[in-house]
Amino acid sequence: MNASVLVINCGSSSIKYALVPSTPEQPRLAGLAERLGGSDARLRGIDSRGDSFSQALGDADHTRALEAILHRLEGQRPLAVGHRIVHGGEHFTRAALIDDDVVAAIERTAALAPLHNPANLAGVKATRRLFPGLPQVAVFDTAFHQTLPPRAYRYALPEALYHDHGIRRYGFHGTSHAYVSQRADTLSGLEGGWLTAHLGNGCSTCAIWQGQSLDTSMGLTPLEGVAMGTRSGDVDPGLHAHLARQLGWPLERIDEVLNRESGLLGLSGLTNDMRELEAAEAHGHPGAALAIEVFCYRIAKSLAALSCALPRLDGLVFTGGIGENSARVRERVILLLPHFGLQLNRTVNSETIRGREGRIDAGGRQLWVIPTDEEGQIAIETRQQLQEASA
Ligand code: AMP
Repeated sequence: MNASVLVINCGSSSIKYALVPSTPEQPRLAGLAERLGGSDARLRGIDSRGDSFSQALGDADHTRALEAILHRLEGQRPLAVGHRIVHGGEHFTRAALIDDDVVAAIERTAALAPLHNPANLAGVKATRRLFPGLPQVAVFDTAFHQTLPPRAYRYALPEALYHDHGIRRYGFHGTSHAYVSQRADTLSGLEGGWLTAHLGNGCSTCAIWQGQSLDTSMGLTPLEGVAMGTRSGDVDPGLHAHLARQLGWPLERIDEVLNRESGLLGLSGLTNDMRELEAAEAHGHPGAALAIEVFCYRIAKSLAALSCALPRLDGLVFTGGIGENSARVRERVILLLPHFGLQLNRTVNSETIRGREGRIDAGGRQLWVIPTDEEGQIAIETRQQLQEASA
């Protein structure tokens, strides 16, 4: 097959898109429609000459934004559309060609991701209307982690909560962990045991053995695990009851604080942006220093814990905006894992930034920086589905 896949990531008020050609040499048209549903929606992106554009969309909804995106494809008709869907529950262990049954199954999973799945589905429905006859594929953030064994995915809770209500660990960022671990296999020539750290605004870690996810830091929701930009990550499960009883906080307030006011932002009292935090720390800001210290310690602790899932550890992979760009965060995390036998090449580490792929160890277990490509991975899985359907 030799044509582009249109990758759509539809949020409640935004649509991210990329037209991914079949070869990496061809340019990718990409962009973001945001503030949809308000009065000042806007579409920004990059055209085929690599020039950026910005277009006002007024009070556009998802359908009108998709129509505007269609015009920006410069007459290219994609082979198929690949949709990022956040939650596939236990139903979806891999990507799926979208039909009415798949839409219904995604709808049934909406209770597990009430903020994300309905928005993702709005994109699916609008795209099916706008591109009738074009194959559409759903690619799930959770599917890669469906290989977790019960010891990793079950919470120590009454069994009925799992069987009757699906309360278990699912894991997220699966597309990213799948992509970077496959790339690490290719680059190293090993099909081994990797610990991957996706460190962006959302952060998660994953233990991968021979291409299969065996454990990951996120759980029922993307709030579990390491500290993130504005998310707390793990807290004492007793915290919720404590805040409700002692401070009288309603559930919505607790949810808001843990998801939007915690993490790097909450600890520093300053920002969730790692670049700003590193600059502030250099100027002696104690909150910024503490936030970075907690962030790195939690990541190292999570990687050490996840190493229990692997029969053998071959190396670590860093990705995501922070993992790809902050040599300092990588160095701090590695220094916190002395018993892993890691040797960092500090010169190469400090040069491996701004989207560069590179091996940053000086011997011992392998250390890689691999820029993630979630759109590329969604396009790969979309093509695979089409090939299987036509076989
Ligand atoms: P993402 O969600 O993957 O786009 O990652 C966003 C995070 O990456 C933010 O915390 C940014 O501050 C961080 N980031 C991006 N560039 C850099 C950089 N050069 N140094 C440190 N952090 C960076």
